[in-house]
Order: sequence, then structure tokens, then C-alpha cells
Amino acid sequence: MIVALLHRLSEKLPRVVHRLSVMMKPQVVFVLGGPGAGKGTQCARIVENYSYTHLSAGDLLREERSRTGSECGQLIDTYIKEGKIVPVEITISLLKKAMEETMKADEKKFRFLIDGFPRNQDNLQGWNTVMDGKADVKFVLFFDCSNEVCIDRCLERGKSSGRTDDNRESLEKRIQTYLQSTRPIIEQYEKQGKVHTIDASRSVDEVFGDVKNILEKEG
Ligand code: ADP
Ligand code: AMP
Repeated sequence: MIVALLHRLSEKLPRVVHRLSVMMKPQVVFVLGGPGAGKGTQCARIVENYSYTHLSAGDLLREERSRTGSECGQLIDTYIKEGKIVPVEITISLLKKAMEETMKADEKKFRFLIDGFPRNQDNLQGWNTVMDGKADVKFVLFFDCSNEVCIDRCLERGKSSGRTDDNRESLEKRIQTYLQSTRPIIEQYEKQGKVHTIDASRSVDEVFGDVKNILEKEG
């Protein structure tokens, strides 16, 4: 009797799990830190080891900039070179579309690392308006290191990245934008007890060791 019951339950379980995952809201981790702090590097490691999809606001904007027929390619190009924050409507529509397409292709992919967002108050307000009730922000991973480390890493990356903003002139502006606009956002999340700060000046493996501990604790 019990064996038969267990057997029937085990047959139904995959369908129940499937239905639950269909209902899942996107679960979001925001990944913040200065330019070159190692956000992209650590996100790649997380994706290799955990079931997260990595969405980089900067990568999505760069893709949109080079998409044939894009109406805002030129505008994005200017903002990126100037190290300024691209208007929020563009960034949010790209993020939203990427999340929808990911979940449409595979409904089990509902965990997202959103890297380089929200970068300012406008980003945050835009997110709260557009995504209210549509996604859960679980916590923030903050990769913390000095401006000097950030600049050195970006200049090193610039030798091969082909990025128009990995040069000293753009970097000075990017660091200013980060200090003036992004740090206050991190502080706001800190007040809500949602920030995990990681010393990002260490080696990739050491930094990832901390990331793993956090992800395992957060479940
Ligand atoms: P971000 O996404 O924050 O701009 P990246 O992950 O692209 O930063 O890293 C910037 C550069 O620094 C890359 O060339 C990367 O290989 C290097 N890098 C990343 N993390 C570390 C680290 N912990 N130690 C040394 N170099 C690193
Ligand atoms: P990143 O690849 O994160 O270093 O970002 C490169 C550039 O893309 C930034 O300096 C901005 O010009 C632009 N950018 C990245 N993320 C955002 C964002 N959340 N909002 C607006 N602009 C962004």
C-alpha cells in the first residue's frame, strides 16, 4: 500500500516541480563594483558552478550598439566613451528582454546575475517601476577594491579587449561616475542588509572562495 503510494507520488513529482518552475519569478542578484573590479570574471565562475544566467548591462549595451538597425547605437557609443550612464529606458528594456528570452527558452533558468546594474538612482527607480512584483532581488554582491587596482586591471584588459573605454581618459570618468552615482546605490542596499561585500583585490580564486561561501549560505 505505502509502496504503491510512494510509487504514484514519484510519478507525479516531475510534473509538480515543472509547474512550480513555470510559476517562478526571476530571482536576481545584482553584481556591483568599480570598473575592472572583476565582476565579469566572477560571474563567469559562478555560471560554471551554479545555475545562474549572467547578464551584463555593459555587454548588452555594447551588443545593442553594434546591432545593425539599432536606433540608439550612436547614443550608446557616445555614453560609453564618456563613461556616462546610458538612459535607463534603454538598459532596462535590454535586461527585461534578455530575462524573458532566457526563461522562454528554458523555464528552469530563473536565477540571474545582473552585473553592472543598478548603477545610479535613475537605474534603481526604473527597475522598481518596471520590475515591481515581476522579479525578486535576493541580494547584492559588491566587489570592493581600490581605484588604483580598478584602473590597473582595466588598462591591462585594454591591451586586448578592443573596448573604447579601457583607456586612462575614459577610466577617470568611469571611476568618477562609479564614486558619485553607484556607491550611493550600494549604500542604500547596505542599509537594507542586502549587501555582501567581498575584498576583490585578491586573486581570482581567493575572491571566488568568498563568493562560493555566500552563495551556499544564501541557498
Ligand atoms: P569588470 O567586469 O568588473 O569590469 P573584469 O572581470 O572584466 O571586470 O576584470 C577586469 C580585468 O581584470 C580583466 O582583464 C580580468 O582578467 C582581470 N581580473 C579580474 N579579476 C581579477 C583578480 N582577482 N586579480 C587580478 N586580475 C583580475
Ligand atoms: P561595464 O561593461 O560594466 O564596465 O560598462 C561599460 C559602460 O557601459 C559604462 O561605463 C556605461 O557607459 C555603460 N553602462 C553599463 N552598465 C550601465 C547601466 N546599468 N546603466 C547605464 N549605462 C551602463
